[in-house]
Amino acid sequence: MSLVRIAFAMFTLASFAGAADRDAHSFANPEHVRVKHVALDVDVDFDKQVIRGTAVLTVERTSKDHKQPLVLDTRGLTISAVDWRVDQGIYWKAKFDLGKPDPVLGQALTVQLPAEATTVRVAYATGPNATALQWLTPAQTAGKKRPLLFTQSQAIDARSWVPLQDTPGVRITYTATVRTPKDLLAVMSAGNDPAAKRTGAYTFAMTQPIPSYLMALAVGDLDFRPLSKRTGVYAEPSVVNKAATEFADLEEMVQACEKLYGPYRWERYDVLVMPPSFPFGGMENPRLTFASPTILAGDKSLVALLAHELAHSWSGNLVSNATWRDFWLNEGFTVYLERRIMEAVYGKARADAEAVLGRRSLDRELADLPKPDQVLHVDLTGRPPVDGLTDVPYEKGALFLKHLEAVYGRERFDRFLSGYFAHFSFRSITTAQFKAYLAEHLLKDDPAKAARAKVDEWLTQPGLPADAPSPSAAALETVEAHAKAFAADKVKAAELPGKAWTAQEWLHFLTSLPAPLTKGRLRALDEAFHLTQSGNSEVLFAWLMLAVKYRYDPADERLEAFLTEQGRRKFLKPLYEELAKTPAGKERALAIYKKARPTYHPVSVETIDVVVGWGKR
Ligand SMILES: [Zn+2]
Repeated sequence: MSLVRIAFAMFTLASFAGAADRDAHSFANPEHVRVKHVALDVDVDFDKQVIRGTAVLTVERTSKDHKQPLVLDTRGLTISAVDWRVDQGIYWKAKFDLGKPDPVLGQALTVQLPAEATTVRVAYATGPNATALQWLTPAQTAGKKRPLLFTQSQAIDARSWVPLQDTPGVRITYTATVRTPKDLLAVMSAGNDPAAKRTGAYTFAMTQPIPSYLMALAVGDLDFRPLSKRTGVYAEPSVVNKAATEFADLEEMVQACEKLYGPYRWERYDVLVMPPSFPFGGMENPRLTFASPTILAGDKSLVALLAHELAHSWSGNLVSNATWRDFWLNEGFTVYLERRIMEAVYGKARADAEAVLGRRSLDRELADLPKPDQVLHVDLTGRPPVDGLTDVPYEKGALFLKHLEAVYGRERFDRFLSGYFAHFSFRSITTAQFKAYLAEHLLKDDPAKAARAKVDEWLTQPGLPADAPSPSAAALETVEAHAKAFAADKVKAAELPGKAWTAQEWLHFLTSLPAPLTKGRLRALDEAFHLTQSGNSEVLFAWLMLAVKYRYDPADERLEAFLTEQGRRKFLKPLYEELAKTPAGKERALAIYKKARPTYHPVSVETIDVVVGWGKR
């Protein structure tokens, strides 16, 4: 793209507010009326499993066409009334209309407003299948005594618990009053008071503008442990001490990232350890990361995930993707930052090992992925954003930045990134905006280096450029040699130095074993290293993948336990897929899924339903 066209793209964006890069996953019309602030006042009703109350939206006209209505996103919400007013005046009834439901997008809520309206109040209740909400019974929690509710708004599920403009291109501040049962604590992606008493009525303020997908709420039997003055951990009482030990390096991680990319801009940084059914490894809700308990390995071996969620405080939360096709701007940057934090806190060998595992995972995924889905700036029109949740935005995105680092040198590239975060802070940007900034602040001065950067190839082509970085780690090369020797029966299991291996080395060993393997080889490994009993969720997952593939039945019981005791999509999907490859395996998958399905999060259910053909028999 020539500089002239970049300038035109920038002009278009500025003038028509998103018309050029319209979000395909939202009905909202911020180009005419934009929501600036949301004031929530809600009751969390565990008996009826409903959130109900009002959302008061502060709106602003952004075009000269003052006849345009306000268009919001909703999914499954019951709207009982919509009113408008001017500033602090009295409320007037507004005419509103809920559009035809779309299976991906939900329903548009169109509100007719006079030109002078500044505030819109929507009285609403969530529906029985609100996709952002998971209502856990006491049995589904770690403590087994009290229920728990949490939200997961990314990517387009905020609309199922709050009526708003659910596009990352619109940033809002918010306040909330949340009423809960008296003995439960509510926390949000906002200012949380670590000393808050359980009263059943909580107020929050998020004073920095965030995209709607970062609105988050959790209510449960939660305790808090401080880790430093500004960091801490929330979890159920039976988990909180273990989590505090595992996350002991959190403050050091924050400081490492600050040193590289500028100050942490969000005041406190706390982590909430979720119940086991949480469908993701982590969710970077600002000021309060939600993290899966599957990262509590007991030896800090899986804390890269924490580095990842923390890094989102810069890439993703401070500078956000404007649409879901720009998702790589969130995740590619974050994986790159995550590895830099890991290198600073735990050393280069650890970061290199993580990079090798990342590259291998990407290569494996690229082998099966349709070409259009291998593109960083992927087209997701007509499809749910979850279709873009592959290794491509994460690992290919990080490789692209690693490549730029290699071309320009680390020092120069670090300076570029710091400038990028400062320039776009608290803004949502498109790939075109990134490209224009890159051209101006990195590529411009040196045409020879700019040619080597191959920006267009990275952003718009499938696969990887021929000179894509190929990370290496000496320790993993040794492990790979062991894997080959063991598979060829040249080394006995007991002779492997596995007792000294890190989790990363074990992961590499298990995924490097050449196919096919015999049950006998698996049994020998299991007897020597008790892999079926591994307490490290990643190692156990890699082991169970082999156990399913080679029908190693001594692991059957543990497989079923693993599939029913946690609900992380990353673990569930490949295991169910591997099971579903044979008729007997598919029967088994369905039998396990029948039991486990009611405990999974809607996000995981949506995925696994397809994998096992649920309801299609
Ligand atoms: Zn992420």
